[in-house]
Amino acid sequence: MYNLSSPAVYVHEDVMADSRYLARMQRVVEALQTPVIPQTFSNQDLPDMIRGGLYANRVAMGTLEEVRDPALLFRTYQFDDQEEKWLAWGQEQDPQVEPELLGYGAFRWWDSNLPQDPERRNRVCRPCWRIHLQEGCVHRCAYCGRGGLLISMLNVEEYCEALGQLIARHPWQETYLLDDDADPPCLEPEQGTLSYLIEYFGTLQGRYLIIHTKTWNTEWLRGLKHNGNTILVWSLSAQTQSTLLEPNAGTTEQRIEAARIAQEAGYTIRYKFKPIIPVRGWEEEAARAVELLFQRTRPDVISLCCLMWMDVEDMLRVLPRELLDESCVQAALEQRETMQGLITGPLPPEMRAKVYLHYLREIRRHAPDLPVSLSTESFEMWRQLGPELGATATSYVCGCGPNSTPGRRKLGCHPFRAAVRNDAGLSGTC
Ligand code: SF4
Repeated sequence: MYNLSSPAVYVHEDVMADSRYLARMQRVVEALQTPVIPQTFSNQDLPDMIRGGLYANRVAMGTLEEVRDPALLFRTYQFDDQEEKWLAWGQEQDPQVEPELLGYGAFRWWDSNLPQDPERRNRVCRPCWRIHLQEGCVHRCAYCGRGGLLISMLNVEEYCEALGQLIARHPWQETYLLDDDADPPCLEPEQGTLSYLIEYFGTLQGRYLIIHTKTWNTEWLRGLKHNGNTILVWSLSAQTQSTLLEPNAGTTEQRIEAARIAQEAGYTIRYKFKPIIPVRGWEEEAARAVELLFQRTRPDVISLCCLMWMDVEDMLRVLPRELLDESCVQAALEQRETMQGLITGPLPPEMRAKVYLHYLREIRRHAPDLPVSLSTESFEMWRQLGPELGATATSYVCGCGPNSTPGRRKLGCHPFRAAVRNDAGLSGTC
């Protein structure tokens, strides 16, 4: 696992009560660089823990003077009928008590582009179930607020039983993205939950686990009985971004090497250039990263997505301006009014299209027929670039869509019509 010096380790009493969960926690704690004595807690202790600073560093890490490794919090998911009661209790105590702290939120419905999605006209994605075992991260990306605290769930046996019921109820969903708010491999192999989940998916027919990561840590994947049912997707970035803005993730080369190892071990591998931050010299750096990935690996799809989800002021607050391409900054400043409130901001569409076309040209030099898609982009961008990409907003395959199975080149069904939620009576869903 990663070399971590966590300032504190919190262990829920449910973990202490089960020797399997306890052993997982202990292996991680023993591997920490700086010894820490774990503190046991119960749900009733959470309000005090929050007042004591549990969430103090949950802010964009580029705004902090100093970024430290996160505190670790181990607990179990609850698969019972008490969720409503506990969530109401949590909100009464402190609005910051989130479902994960109380052991809920294992399986979350992502309603992208469905009528109830308020952003359905502003970005294209795929509705589906997403699954979770961790929340929080060790990678210290400047634009991300997932540092400070890493919550990790240890009752993976019970989790897989509940997941099996969810999968059986949703025959249209072929892949399951794990932890879109964490980076799952960081505590492996010591923790052992991810290897259990990979081997669980290995027992299924036509159902795939997707692990989305920036990790260098894949040697431990060798030898697992994955049966071709786990896909690893690297968020890949070029040299400056990977070393200066994502300092504890793997470098460009380390991520590609980690992907090569996974590929050698029989896993399907993919890349997303996401988020693409246009640093000075981004064109040359992009070309080098693309060349290197094709020298060493054979992905089945690549997706592209510029830095999003913030306005230009936030971008300049979390990223050092001296690293950025000044023409991109100027374009974002000039169009700040037009981009206000759009989740595809801060870069205006002309600038994003220029970035995508550059990446696409570089990719096509090495892989003329590889599916290349846009990730969480607008319908307008799809209309503009679809002919170049060879797909549309409703037919593309991508890194983690629910029907982007290994090797698929286009979707067979309309993604917004195929997705039907059917979890009434199941536990662990929200
Ligand atoms: S790898 Fe992802 S979750 Fe982790 S710090 Fe970076 S952006 Fe955040």
